[in-house]
Parts: sequence; structure tokens; C-alpha cells
Amino acid sequence: MNAPLPPPLPFARHLSPPKTLEQLITGSRQAALPAAFHVRVAPVPLSEPRLLAFSPDAAGLVGLDDAQMTRPEAAAWLSGSQLLPGAQPLATVYGGHQFGTWSGRLGDGRAHLLGDADSADGPLEVQLKGSGATPYARFADGRAVLRSSLREFLASEAMHALGIPTTRALSIVGSSLEVQRDGMETAAVVTRLAPSFVRFGTPEHFHAEDDTAHLRLLADHVIAHFRPELRDAAQPYAALLADVCNTTAALVASWQAIGFIHGVMNTDNMSLLGLTLDYGPFAFMDRFDPGRISNRSDTYGRYAFRAQPRIAHWNLYVLADALGPLIGHPDVTRDIVDRHFQPAFDRCYGERMRARLGLMHALPGDDDLIAGTLGLLARERVDYTLFFRTLSRLPGAPARDERACSDAPLRDLFADREACDAWLIGWRARLAREASRDEPRQTAMLKVNPRYILRNWMADEVIRDARQGDLRSLHRVLDCLRQPFDDQPALARYAQPPADSACSAPLSCSS
Ligand code: AMP
Ligand code: MG
Repeated sequence: MNAPLPPPLPFARHLSPPKTLEQLITGSRQAALPAAFHVRVAPVPLSEPRLLAFSPDAAGLVGLDDAQMTRPEAAAWLSGSQLLPGAQPLATVYGGHQFGTWSGRLGDGRAHLLGDADSADGPLEVQLKGSGATPYARFADGRAVLRSSLREFLASEAMHALGIPTTRALSIVGSSLEVQRDGMETAAVVTRLAPSFVRFGTPEHFHAEDDTAHLRLLADHVIAHFRPELRDAAQPYAALLADVCNTTAALVASWQAIGFIHGVMNTDNMSLLGLTLDYGPFAFMDRFDPGRISNRSDTYGRYAFRAQPRIAHWNLYVLADALGPLIGHPDVTRDIVDRHFQPAFDRCYGERMRARLGLMHALPGDDDLIAGTLGLLARERVDYTLFFRTLSRLPGAPARDERACSDAPLRDLFADREACDAWLIGWRARLAREASRDEPRQTAMLKVNPRYILRNWMADEVIRDARQGDLRSLHRVLDCLRQPFDDQPALARYAQPPADSACSAPLSCSS
């Protein structure tokens, strides 16, 4: 066994030749589905739309260069204030279990799918979020505030750069429109890209409606467009469920390994394609705390960091029940979940954590080393990201008289330095068991242990500045997070942990 690096993500290649914004939308697979899947509805124009930022990486996926993204028309098109040529705007229907309870029909209350754009890896859906109320808005205003939109924009691109599957963010457009949340805030629109925004809640909706014909059509649509290799399986729908178990396990394993807390793992926020979807009151771990809750509304910690794998498993049971009419009895569908989720999670999590620790091979005892490491970090409240980044540069077998100097940067993260020393003895003994060499191990570790994550204090600073019309920190943070594994000395302050524990306070989910 070798090369524990995560596999390269799809949807990273730029499309050539370049396109114009007028050429962006080339069709709509969603619009070709029957009316039961969506309502056709136009975005509501936004007052004084202004392009605040775009992601050059996401733009490149769909063949848009900087010149296209900075055209004067871009703000109107990318906020839905004017319809992009070729767009067939619609809002998709889905249901969902929220905090463990069936919520009935939800749907895109404030998002408009414009259609598909070509990418080197197949079509990507182009969706506006915050672009006005749809028939699924119930009593809400159809808008998203600048604060939550900036967080979603930055987090989507940061997660991709970290090697974690996610929907992408093409752009963020601000406006002068004021909307009521905790107080008055201005509205914004994020343009998102994904192969599909289909959720666990989509089949749940058709199952709740007892509409097996459309449930089957949905499963056929997903297989045909996104998982064509499953068409030849003996039981394609059972294979689809197994596939969702595997991709969800890989996703949540990558969240646990990087220290990402989603915050609202309702089934309407769970992608059928295993992507991180719907960034709300998420957080990246700073001081390691497995019980960390990032959502202020989550009184009992249903979506706490350590609960995420268990919740993913529960959500997959819900999906299994929804697909039941296509596959068989709940005992059969739930058994598919049990047979796939946990083994896939354990394998992916083990791979990611071994990589973070610089271990190339799996050996007996690794699970204990990982659990012991996390226990120590939790007891000592060490910054999770700084620990692994600092560890990446330590030698595997320093001479006794060099140790004080070589180990100092890691020891400085601990209040109990002797606890750190004791841990290092165990880690080094484990490195010796695979005859680890410093140079290749350190190079590999620096590629999986980021220096930069989107810390809440950074997002807060970006939001504060953007509210005052100053976009420099937004652009600086985006640049920083595009290359989270590079040292970028000029941006070193973004590697800093929060000044005090107030920064780990849960976030409001108002958005
Ligand atoms: P979320 O909590 O953002 O995942 O949203 C859950 C559901 O509420 C989805 O159906 C959203 O479309 C809808 N929703 C949330 N906020 C709004 C809003 N301001 N206007 C319309 N619908 C919303
Ligand atoms: Mg949602």
C-alpha cells in the first residue's frame, strides 16, 4: 500500500476554448423532466446589483475568463436581475427531515436553477441562491443576506481547494436591498455550480407523495446522468443506494479528518452525489473539541462534530426508506446501508487520518494512535489545524540534543509539554515501524495538512469590511484559501487561531 493522498477531485479542469457569458447556458437536463420535479419561475430583480467577487477557479470550469466575469453585465446576469441568455429558470421540489422530523414539502424557496453549463467533466447546473421568492418560499422573502452569502461563497471554494467534494461558487453579487433578519441586513446572490443539486430530500418527496413513477424517473435520471456505470448493475437502484452510502461516507470522513462541522445535516441538505451542500452555520474546528456545536439552534447537539458520521448513517436510512418502492422491504434497504456506510467511512477516515499523521502504510494499532491523538488534542484544547501543520515539519528521529530545538514549535501548542513529548515518542516509534524517511513524509504531509482554513474570525472580518464597502479582505481571503497548502508568508496572519474562545461560539442559522 502506498500514496495515502486523497484522489484528485473531478471538476478541477478548465474548459477550453473560453466562452462568453451569453454562451454559458447550453441546455437544461432538469427542465426536460416532467412538471412534478419543479416549478418554472423567474428570479426577482435585485436593486443595484454589484459583483463583489468571483472565483477564477470555478469560472474556469465553465470556460469563463476574468474578462467575462468582470463585464458590466455580469452583476445583473449573475443575480437574476436580468435573465442569462438561454436560461430556463425553475425551482426544484424536495422534502426533508429537519432535526429528525419529517418537514413535508420544502423545495427551492429562494434558488433558481438557470440550466446547464458545459465543463470538461460534463455539464454543471448553474443555480442562483437568494434570487427571490418561489412558490416554495412559504412565508419567507426569497433572499439570502450578505453575511451568509459571503460565508457560502468562501467556504465552497475553500473546501474544494482542501480536496473535499462540494458544490462550487462562481460569484457573489451584493445589492442595496434591505431584508429583515436579526436586524436589517442587505441581500446578496451566490451563483453555485454542481453536477446536480439533487438531495436525499428529492426522492423523499416523491416517496411521501406515494408517487413511485416519478421516484423511478428520478432514480433513472440520476443514474443516466451522474452514475452511468450503475446502469449495468444487476439491481441498478440498489447499486445507486450503495453508491450514495459510499460517497456520503467518503464525504463525512473528509469532514471529520479536516475538522469541518456542517451544522445542519438535515436530509434536504444532503447531496445524492456526496457533495458538501448548503453552507449555513458551519465551522472549521479551531481548538479541538469533538462535542463542538456550530449551530446556535442545535440545543441538544444533534449535529455536533462527533455526531456527524452517526447522523449521516441515520440520514441514509431515511434515503433507504424513500427508495424502498424501487428496491424492496426496509430490512433489505437498511441492510444495504449497514453493509456499505460504516466500512467505507472507516476506510476513508483511516486513510485521511494516516495521511495527516504522515503514515504511508496501514498497520495494526493505527486506530488507537488516531484516537489517542484526538483525545490528547481535546484534553489540551490544541488548535487542530496548527497541530498537523506543525507536525508536518518535525523530524522522525532527531538526535537527543537536537530534540528540544526541533520539537519546540509543536510543544509550544501544548500547556502540558510533557504530554506532547510522550505523544511524540509513540508517533516516532510508529514512523520507525514503516522506516519512514523525513523528506518524502514531510512533503506528503504538507500537501494534506493545510496552513489555512476558513476560520470564523476571518469570515467575520470579511463580512465587517464588505458591509462597509471594502472588498479587499474578501479578495485576500479568497486568494489565501485557494492555496491552503502553500505557506504564503504575506498572508501569515490568516493562519492564526482565534484570539479567545468566543470565536468558537455557535452561529445563528438565520441566513
Ligand atoms: P436552508 O435552511 O437554507 O437549508 O433552507 C431550508 C428550506 O427553507 C429550503 O426549502 C429553503 O429554500 C427555504 N428557505 C430558507 N430561507 C428562505 C428564504 N429567506 N426565503 C425562501 N425560502 C427560504
Ligand atoms: Mg438547504
